[in-house]
Amino acid sequence: MTQTKLTALNTKLIKIRHYLHQNPELSDAETNTTAYLTKQLSALGYRIVTPAALKTGVIAELGSGTPIIGLRSDIDALPIQEKTNLDYTSKNAGVMHACGHDFHMAALLGAAELLATAKNRPAGTIRLIFQPAEETHVGAQEVTEAGGIDHLAAIIGFHNKPDLNVGEIGLRSGGLMAAVDQFKVTFKGIGTHAAAPHLGKDPILTAASSITALQSIVSRNEDPQQATVVSVTHIEGGATWNVLPETTWFEGTIRTFNQAARSLAKQRFFEIINGQAATFGLSAQIDWLTGPDVVDNDPKLTQIVTAETAKHLTVVQPTPSNAGEDFAYFSQKIPSVFAFIGSHAQSDWHHADYIVDDKGLIPAAQWYYFNALRLLTELS
Ligand SMILES: [Zn+2]
Ligand SMILES: [Zn+2]
Repeated sequence: MTQTKLTALNTKLIKIRHYLHQNPELSDAETNTTAYLTKQLSALGYRIVTPAALKTGVIAELGSGTPIIGLRSDIDALPIQEKTNLDYTSKNAGVMHACGHDFHMAALLGAAELLATAKNRPAGTIRLIFQPAEETHVGAQEVTEAGGIDHLAAIIGFHNKPDLNVGEIGLRSGGLMAAVDQFKVTFKGIGTHAAAPHLGKDPILTAASSITALQSIVSRNEDPQQATVVSVTHIEGGATWNVLPETTWFEGTIRTFNQAARSLAKQRFFEIINGQAATFGLSAQIDWLTGPDVVDNDPKLTQIVTAETAKHLTVVQPTPSNAGEDFAYFSQKIPSVFAFIGSHAQSDWHHADYIVDDKGLIPAAQWYYFNALRLLTELS
């Protein structure tokens, strides 16, 4: 690709990203985004093969035969009121691309153009997957159930990373982003006058003791080399100063980096809560929601992608993130690599003032492009 071609593409991708940023849509409601992407991809000569079962999101192919290589971008925004003062700020009140999925889409469209116009593209098929509903962690599953990843030899994707510089590509084998579990615990006791605690069963004391005890999962059960997190984030119980309530509940999340740590955390969680309930003589109800698994980069594929990336861009060793990412759903099914790509934003994901640096778009598009070509050859 010539410098002139890249400069022209850069201008185009910035325009695309700003358009997408101005027009964000929530998870599983990305109707206009879907129409926009479909139009762009058709214009580049891609076959639109989005399954009918997929209400939003786009799947498009280029080339024919095997191997089929998947390139994935997510497309949804967040229920956040934007506070960036950008001249291309969100036009949809209360909705914002605060995770940079606009950046991901623009980069993948850039790669789409580079691939469509590449001379001597190896045999095989490129499948672009513009996935809906990443933020609600259901989109990857929706794509999979609709047949969107059928017959893929490999799939790659990335998340923009604010603490990496523009042009830096973070790659590592194994766990890159954490498995996510969500819990809610409700203790039911007996309410009573605050002055007569002996006549009741106090769920507030039980909750307080339990929350403290839960921290022993990380400090006393899990391998200290594994970055497990247990966070209680919300608690409610009682309504006034002189009555002990009947119930108290709290909720939160657990983040782990492998199956053993995940199972152990869940097992200890149940043991601790049920043990505490028994100790204080109340009942406990635990609601458990299993979220995305670990984003687990295939060692062999990561080696190939790292070698190819290093030829063109700056590879760095990223710190894994305890955030979750539903790309994990793909990585559990087919060999995959998920990268962190520098967007050099001043704040962090999901902040109302999140601004990615447009200069990161071309490196991100190139990352998809070079690795797509390499994998077509490598996996043929
Ligand atoms: Zn996000
Ligand atoms: Zn995101």
